Amino acid sequence: MSGEAHTRLECKVCWYVYDPAVGDPLWQIAPGTPFADLPPHWSCPNCATEKSGFLPLGDD
Ligand SMILES: [Zn+2]
Repeated sequence: MSGEAHTRLECKVCWYVYDPAVGDPLWQIAPGTPFADLPPHWSCPNCATEKSGFLPLGDD
């Protein structure tokens, strides 16, 4: 199985981590939502960096 759906991504500005298992309460993103399925206008809930400013974390 690909790890894409549960890959966590880290904001390179403030180190906020988006975890698909948690979602994003601020943006009303349901738990289980992959980063790729976030709305285009989604940005870091902590510092408003856009999606392109996030980097995938390693699986281990
Ligand atoms: Zn941030």
